[in-house]
Amino acid sequence: MKVGRFSHEGALAYGVLDEEAQEWVLLKGDPMFAGYDTTGERAKITEVTLVAPVIPRSKVVGVGKNYHDHVAEMKSVTGGDAPKEPLLFLKPNTAVIGPNEPIVLPAISQRVEHEGELVAVIGKVAKNVPVEKALDYVFGYTIGNDVSARDLQVGDGQWARAKGFDTFAPLGPVIETEFDPTDAALQVRVNGEIRQDGNTGDLIFGIPQIIAHASAAFTLLPGDVIMTGTPAGVGPLVAGDTVEVEIEGLGILRNPVKAS
Ligand code: MG
Repeated sequence: MKVGRFSHEGALAYGVLDEEAQEWVLLKGDPMFAGYDTTGERAKITEVTLVAPVIPRSKVVGVGKNYHDHVAEMKSVTGGDAPKEPLLFLKPNTAVIGPNEPIVLPAISQRVEHEGELVAVIGKVAKNVPVEKALDYVFGYTIGNDVSARDLQVGDGQWARAKGFDTFAPLGPVIETEFDPTDAALQVRVNGEIRQDGNTGDLIFGIPQIIAHASAAFTLLPGDVIMTGTPAGVGPLVAGDTVEVEIEGLGILRNPVKAS
C-alpha cells in the first residue's frame, strides 16, 4: 500500500493510493498516529502536489559507511574502515523537503554531494527493541537523499553541519508499507547520467540491526526516519542539476538543485 502526503485544495492531507483508479483516498489524520479512517473524499493524482511523506517528529537518523563499496571510496576522504557496529548520526527535521522541491546549495560549501538511500519510517515508539522484533516497528519505506557538504564534513570532523543544512534531506515520493528491504536495486542519476548503482541487499547492517542499535541509545518516535546509508558513486551536485534516486518498488525521488 502506498501512503502519500500532499496538498489538495489548499490543505495538507494524507492519502492511500488506489492504483487502479489513479486516485488518492483521503485519510482523516496522520496514519502513523491515527490509523486509516477515510474522509470519504478522493482526489485524482493529477490534482494533488506531493510533499514529503513524513516530517520526522524528532529526528532523522543517519547511518554512515553502511556499504563496503562506499567505505572504500570514502577512505581517502574521511578515512577509516567499515564500522564494527552501525555508525549513527542525526540530521535535523528542518532539513526535510519533498519530491520536486529544490536542494539549495549553501554558499559556504564548495562541494555538495548526493547520497541516495533506502529510508525506513518508524511506526511505533521504539526503545530497546531486539533485532528479531525490529521490523514490527517499521511503518513503511521510502527513498531519501542524504545530501552532504563534503568539504565541511571533512573540515568539521563531525557531521551535524555538513549533513544538516535546510533542504539536505529530501524524502519521498511516497511511503510503501509492503516492501522487502533486503533486495532492491538502488540507482542515482544526475541529469540522466547514472552515478550510483547498488542494491539494498549489500547493506552491511540491515534495518533490524540499525533499529536495535539506535533504539538502545535513544527513543524512536512514530514518524522518525532512518536513512540507511549509501552505496558507492557519491559525487558533486551543481546548480541547475536534477538528481533522481530510484529504488525498485518505491519509485523515483527527483529534486532540482539550485544556488542559495
Ligand atoms: Mg549517507
